[in-house]
Amino acid sequence: MKVFVIDIDKCSGCHNCQIACKDEHCGNDWMPYAAPQPNSGQFWMRVKQKDHGQVPKVRVEYTPWMCMHCDNPACEAAAPEAVSKRDDGLVIIDPVKSKGKRELVDACPYGAIFYNEELDIPQKCTGCAHLVDQGELPHCVDLCATGALRFGDESEFADEIANAETFDFGGAAPRVYYLNRPHLFIGGEVWDPVDDEIIEGAKVTLTMPDGTTRETETDDFGDFWFRRIDEGTYDVRIEAAGYQSAERTGIELRESLNLGDFPLNRA
Ligand code: SF4
Ligand code: SF4
Repeated sequence: MKVFVIDIDKCSGCHNCQIACKDEHCGNDWMPYAAPQPNSGQFWMRVKQKDHGQVPKVRVEYTPWMCMHCDNPACEAAAPEAVSKRDDGLVIIDPVKSKGKRELVDACPYGAIFYNEELDIPQKCTGCAHLVDQGELPHCVDLCATGALRFGDESEFADEIANAETFDFGGAAPRVYYLNRPHLFIGGEVWDPVDDEIIEGAKVTLTMPDGTTRETETDDFGDFWFRRIDEGTYDVRIEAAGYQSAERTGIELRESLNLGDFPLNRA
């Protein structure tokens, strides 16, 4: 069974994968898996961008997004006569049998299916089944310059899959695995208002929504970061030798948050 493994840390947002998909499928007929993709209006592969935080603590997250080749495909449930799952796990919309089946566009919870008005068929990523059949890589994977996109047998990626996450909408059981999703962060800066200097090495304690704590220290810019956390209510406490401690409680985290400055008064 094949899987895609996508490492978010390695994705630079260059959109090579998106262009590669267009290059492989626009104007090219890969029957029985895919009729030609139109030149515009369809993105079998796209790169979603999300900006986290507030200036100057900002991080951009790029997420390559395509058909998840689900093990429980909602598209197949909506039109079993037109959609099939191959033995290697790739989900294919039959370009002939799917004619007129516009309802497939809304059936996919990932927004991965597009309608070709000219041909009157729904279309999506085929996993480049025509290349996989020849022992080659999907074109988007082949052209990813940073190694963020990988594809292969599930058994080869056992370690990555054990550390990966999926976007499992409604029990779809996707076959696209994501590594190093950033989730949310809390950050801030600690400084001495008398000397007008940042404070390096201050101890910062984060109380998590479940009451457990994480600790870090301010870096040589006086900054602290708690990364890969999720929505919830947090407390932050800051301690530094020779200073009064400071804290902020009841922080309602919905999006990544720059808490801003923490000026510490001398003890
Ligand atoms: S992501 Fe959408 S189109 Fe792809 S297999 Fe799942 S339900 Fe079907
Ligand atoms: S696997 Fe092929 S069809 Fe799917 S997004 Fe990549 S290039 Fe496009």
